[in-house]
Amino acid sequence: MKHVITLLPGDGIGPEITEAAKKVLAATGVEIEWEEMPAGENVMEKYGTPIPDETLESIRKNKVALKGPITTPVGGGFRSVNVHIRKALDLYSCLRPCKSYGIKDVPFPDLDLVVVRENTEDLYAGIEFGKGDPKIQELGKLAGCAFSATTGISIKPISEEASRRIIKFAFDYAVKNGRKKVTGVHKANIMKHSDGIFLEVFREVAAEYPSIESEDRIVDNMTMQLVKKPELYDVMVLPNLYGDILSDLCAGLVGGLGIAPGANIGDDTAVFEPTHGSAPKHAGKNRINPISMILSGALMLNHIGEGEAGKKIEDAVRQLIVEGDTLTYDFGGTSSTSDVGDRLADIIAG
Ligand code: NAD
Repeated sequence: MKHVITLLPGDGIGPEITEAAKKVLAATGVEIEWEEMPAGENVMEKYGTPIPDETLESIRKNKVALKGPITTPVGGGFRSVNVHIRKALDLYSCLRPCKSYGIKDVPFPDLDLVVVRENTEDLYAGIEFGKGDPKIQELGKLAGCAFSATTGISIKPISEEASRRIIKFAFDYAVKNGRKKVTGVHKANIMKHSDGIFLEVFREVAAEYPSIESEDRIVDNMTMQLVKKPELYDVMVLPNLYGDILSDLCAGLVGGLGIAPGANIGDDTAVFEPTHGSAPKHAGKNRINPISMILSGALMLNHIGEGEAGKKIEDAVRQLIVEGDTLTYDFGGTSSTSDVGDRLADIIAG
């Protein structure tokens, strides 16, 4: 069966890693018709925006996209193009698997963790009042305290609805993928009216999944536990800010941004993309590691029912890393982006 998938190569290093990923995906034999759409800094002049409406329409129509990183333009326009895409398509779940794949010299050579991050609320909701805004004094009156004239405020909304859907997503993911445990992460001891809601809903939802072990952890303790004993954890579900921070920490545990795939998933659509950004200083040099993008492609294959092909890519990545002679600079090698794509395609083709 042929799959029609929207492709956003993005900008910076995006087009290079996209080429490598296309080659590897083609080697699996899965028939994909790519609908390549404009997005990123390089389309600003033509479209007046880094994310044209027709690009969002293509994702809505095809329901699945593979996306390279996009630079957030400095000064004006969107606060972040990526946040805009997630909001426009209501991609409320951010999925970040962190696996070791045999990389040498990582502190934990045999890890397999999954971070599920809420994507729509929390301090990323964009509700902020800048220094000098008169509303800050009004908020002070409401809160029964006086803010100094130099105070800025960011608001952290957390709702039962958004908490429930992300926590259910995490438990459903655990069931579908044969995972044993889900850990809910929060700071409800301090933020009783925001993280408190997240924790309360976590406990309610956990009770609906008796076959999955559940526990909750306060985020500072969780951070320490992940550095010392990450093997105790399996799937973690977190509000937006903690999810952002802990997913990078987990990527670091298994080898860094070069091996950190991701997905942003909603009820109707899903966008697969590496965790890292557009790394502008490396753009056009054919030296960046394409594996995060390639593994994002493998996640995408699982999502569209081509799990066997997705596994072939994961196995090929493991083989390439263990062979050790086609690695980019971040893994201690001297190979290029295209060398890694070519070698993975060869391994898959047998
Ligand atoms: P970045 O992830 O682009 O790069 C930081 C550094 O990490 C790079 O200089 C490089 O040394 C290393 N690195 C990143 N990816 C790598 C890879 N695949 N292989 C090897 N090394 C790699 O972060 P940044 O410099 O903070 O952000 C650059 C731009 O990307 C910003 O405009 C930011 O807004 C954007 N960004 C986009 C996304 C996205 O599209 N989802 C995500 C994060 C950042």
